[in-house]
Amino acid sequence: MAGGEPVSERGQRDGLVVAIDGPSGSGKSTISRRVAAELGLAFLDTGAMYRAATWWCVRQGIDLADVDAVARAVAELPLTIGTDPENPSFAVGGEDVSVVIRSTEISTAVSAVATNLAVRAELQRRQRGVIEAERHPGGRSEGRGIIAEGRDITTVVAPDADVRILLIADETARLARRAREVHGAEDEAALEATRDQVLRRDAQDSTVSNFSTAADGVITVDSSGMSLEQTVAAVRTLVEDVR
Ligand code: C5P
Repeated sequence: MAGGEPVSERGQRDGLVVAIDGPSGSGKSTISRRVAAELGLAFLDTGAMYRAATWWCVRQGIDLADVDAVARAVAELPLTIGTDPENPSFAVGGEDVSVVIRSTEISTAVSAVATNLAVRAELQRRQRGVIEAERHPGGRSEGRGIIAEGRDITTVVAPDADVRILLIADETARLARRAREVHGAEDEAALEATRDQVLRRDAQDSTVSNFSTAADGVITVDSSGMSLEQTVAAVRTLVEDVR
């Protein structure tokens, strides 16, 4: 612990920790970010960390099938994370990668890096560090609290979170959402182009994380027939109930 005056635990509250998992296209990033902004919580998009790790390996020309080389590169990943839900940011070696990590090239390659178990251990360790910093910031301040979202937050990264939610949506709804996001349309061509990104990626990702069924104590929210506003309201109510 750093020096300074001893700080009494009395009067300090831990920040609330909310864990949200779900498949690709379930809307978890948009919804988590909105609820975090409305409730004054920090926001951590763990998928962006896997994307930044992938970008870093691709940038260095590393063969993503070379498990040891990828693990070594990610152990040294100089990643800086901004957790403000109004302006989440990711920088690698001082370079802002927030936009480039959303490219089709990275979306296609990310599962190869995210299924590397040494990479997962390293990024999970960093995710716990970010969550702990918002839970007990140290000093006199009260924890701001955080919503962290991904594939394994409710089960592996923060199974002790105060609120744990699995956000699901049926395949048709997920494909339509991603097609709108990535191609700006929901016609057949856009749906087809999205299919690989959503379904192949989920199939590959599900070999290392379970995000299709809720673990004990995890609440399932099915957003298939719900608008964005309705889903935000449902998640917000679950968080406020424990606050
Ligand atoms: O959520 P998003 O689509 O940005 O996630 C990108 C990728 O990061 C996922 O396809 C998955 O491979 C990986 N991921 C993961 N564990 C998490 C979050 C994301 O493996 N907690």
